[in-house]
Amino acid sequence: MVAVKQAKDLLIKNINSLEPISKNLLEAVGYVMEEDIFSPIDLPPFTCSAMDGYAIRSSDVQDKLPIKLKIKGEIKAGDFKNITVGEGYAFKIFTGAPIPFGTDYVVMQEYTQQEDDFVLIKKNFSKYENIRWKGEEIRKGQKVLSRGTVLNPVVIGFLAIMGIDKVKVIRKPNAYLIVTGSELVIPGTPLKLGKVYDSNSFSIYSALKDMGIERISMVRRGDDFRAIHKAFEKAIAGSDVIIFSGGVSVGKYDFVRELFEKVGVETIFYKVEQKPGKPIYFGRYKGKIIFGLPGNPVSSLVCFYGYVYPAIRKMMGLYPIFLEEKTLSLLKEIRNKGGKVNFLRGMFYSNTVMPLKYQSSHMLSSFAKSNCLIVVPRNRKLLKKGEKVKVQILPM
Ligand code: AMP
Ligand code: MG
Repeated sequence: MVAVKQAKDLLIKNINSLEPISKNLLEAVGYVMEEDIFSPIDLPPFTCSAMDGYAIRSSDVQDKLPIKLKIKGEIKAGDFKNITVGEGYAFKIFTGAPIPFGTDYVVMQEYTQQEDDFVLIKKNFSKYENIRWKGEEIRKGQKVLSRGTVLNPVVIGFLAIMGIDKVKVIRKPNAYLIVTGSELVIPGTPLKLGKVYDSNSFSIYSALKDMGIERISMVRRGDDFRAIHKAFEKAIAGSDVIIFSGGVSVGKYDFVRELFEKVGVETIFYKVEQKPGKPIYFGRYKGKIIFGLPGNPVSSLVCFYGYVYPAIRKMMGLYPIFLEEKTLSLLKEIRNKGGKVNFLRGMFYSNTVMPLKYQSSHMLSSFAKSNCLIVVPRNRKLLKKGEKVKVQILPM
């Protein structure tokens, strides 16, 4: 048995980020960059217009407004015209189109009037207005992003605008979920007396998916030692994280630890001084990370967010790894037996938090309404209303 703090330290010490791989931009969302990025081009790549209007020479119009200029031609976005505009001429131009040589100002269409081949310029201006300069934002070769950056849609767009199509990222782990329990029935089928619906396979699978894990396998194997063993062998062959649900306690039909002993899984910790989720198991085998989550629906999720979630975040190179913590004001007193850290389901709003009703480890209803876990320290038997408490924000 270890304390919560110790369990977290062991987790940090025993998990490393996975190796880098190359990803096409369209498949890169949610990954963490494993390289610094230097822009291969200037941004903007050429000097261009920021407006629809007319590119002109400021010397032609300064102090002479209103004035008529002859329209020499037109440049639309995507065109390039290798011409120099002489005195007395204007070029019709559109947003994003390259500015012709000789011009230094774009007058917005709204401030002009076209008359046949001429344009009447009516409004005052300042030189260089409405022009986006080559390299004004970024210079070719400039460092623009650091490794460790999460590839969100904006970052992906930014890479694309620099012409980058592939990026070196930290691989995401493949997960394998082995659900034990002969009492379990799949939702959508009738419930016979003595059976319960299997919620963990749904909640844990969804929690993994929510984290951006792309390859998740899941099997249900009852409480059958041989079947669980076989599933484990298969899981080890193709996955980075193997998660067991249930069967990790001391009951006659809890086979998970017996299996670990038999095959020689290295135990990093088993049992944490916490409630719910005391019988959580964390180990390693053939370089793979192994978790045994207690079967009670609340316990398995509390352990998931406490230990599996940070482990996977660390493997993916995400930081910080643990749930975000806040210190908030309690809206109602909490009584605790003591001896263990108690994670209560709570609802925070602004700087206050309310512990919810129905806190037993088989009761998912309050968890479903909660947005945080209230951390009741192990040595505290009474937390008074108004007292400051630490809460962990659930990522949902
Ligand atoms: P165990 O950890 O296997 O001893 O299971 C503890 C409690 O959790 C028992 O009441 C089980 O019926 C229940 N339980 C185990 N696995 C699941 C599951 N996948 N979904 C819902 N309840 C479960
Ligand atoms: Mg069981």
